[in-house]
Amino acid sequence: MSETNAFQMVVSRIDAVCDRLNVKDACRLRLERCERELIVNFPVKMDDGTVKVFTGFRVQHNDTRGPAKGGTRYHPDVTLDETRALAALMTLKTAVVNIPYGGAKGAVTCNPKVMSQNELERLTRRYTSEISILIGPERDIPAPDIGTNPQVMAWIMDTYSMIKGYTIPAVVTGKPITIGGSKGRFEATGRGCMLSAGLAANHLGISLNGATVAVQGIGNVAYCAARLLAGEGCRIIAISDSKGGTYNPKGLDLESLVNYKKETGSVVGFKDAENITNTELLALPCDILVPAAIEDQIVKANAADIKARTIVEGANAPTTPEADEILSDNGVLVVPDILANAGGVVVSYFEWVQDLQAFFWSEDEVNRQLETVMHNAFHEVLEMSQRQKVNMRNAAYMLAIKRIADAMEARGIFP
Ligand code: NAD
Repeated sequence: MSETNAFQMVVSRIDAVCDRLNVKDACRLRLERCERELIVNFPVKMDDGTVKVFTGFRVQHNDTRGPAKGGTRYHPDVTLDETRALAALMTLKTAVVNIPYGGAKGAVTCNPKVMSQNELERLTRRYTSEISILIGPERDIPAPDIGTNPQVMAWIMDTYSMIKGYTIPAVVTGKPITIGGSKGRFEATGRGCMLSAGLAANHLGISLNGATVAVQGIGNVAYCAARLLAGEGCRIIAISDSKGGTYNPKGLDLESLVNYKKETGSVVGFKDAENITNTELLALPCDILVPAAIEDQIVKANAADIKARTIVEGANAPTTPEADEILSDNGVLVVPDILANAGGVVVSYFEWVQDLQAFFWSEDEVNRQLETVMHNAFHEVLEMSQRQKVNMRNAAYMLAIKRIADAMEARGIFP
């Protein structure tokens, strides 16, 4: 998050909305800081017998509306500041979709791409043990994010259960289904993006059937969103990874593309398509743009080049505040991250509920409930945006902060 410090960027957006909503100072002061921040430096034995010391974080931004909830990122560049920003976005996201959680985030500064499975398992188990003083089903529930997956969640669940002495599936979500994961969770964030794209397209009078879509990324969120959008009849014209992108205005065959990436390590060089850069992908003529990779992709320098009619933010914080203004002026409908990618935390909530009740739902039931939550949240944000004459991001922040402020008021936190 380069244009400004990442947490400060979220705080300045919160501040602007607090001014507009006239919320009490106590609420603003609490949201401008994170409630709890844990930094851990811990040793991991590597396969070659050496020992490395890794740094990890677990940050709980706010738990007024319920236990803290948020993913775990493994990435070489992740910092405490970025973890704070992502935790704050989770507080807002859980409030926008109105599920009974606060916001948290965890991270370890490491490069999972160059670590073996055994090294990753040892790192995850030691990290879990270090943060076990903060997490728990009633307190703070981790989930996957960049660089982590259901296997990592299984190791977290197993280590936490070993510490407590009995099996506690509800300590983490995004687990494999065999140990209490939910059907539909793996693709839930992508499904939420697809549903958001459908709702935005409908609002703009575009039919998903035949709409052109450019997707940045090919990870969990990007791939699931692309596949589900293709299933709705969209033409996926471009996809990328960290090395670059591939573009075919007639549409890409997703299955062959994924196989090609598995074989070669990148989408670059895919047959019957043109190589493009990530910057070129963002500026392609298309109906729907789904940035679903990393933060800070749509910035002041390239925002005016965007030709999509709507942007559905699969990634967290892909657009900077400076870019937001340009997009609003140009009439691009941005479905903000805290709404568009909330499908993951919504189905994580369903997973937690199922674990606590030890009663599991069918995939149809999960998808049906997700659709209801996304539909209601989108329309509540749209209605706020029209009533307050603000863009969808500011409307989502207003809806979220109003809910958090009301919860603080009800709990009697204000003097
Ligand atoms: P992932 O690790 O599965 O995928 C990340 C993708 O980003 C990969 O395709 C990678 O090639 C691409 N990428 C990395 N660096 C890039 C660069 N410099 N330029 C272009 N592409 C690059 O991660 P994910 O879980 O799919 O998460 C993607 C985004 O979605 C993140 O912002 C994450 O915080 C957000 N998110 C994830 C979830 C979830 O449930 N996984 C939920 C909500 C939000």
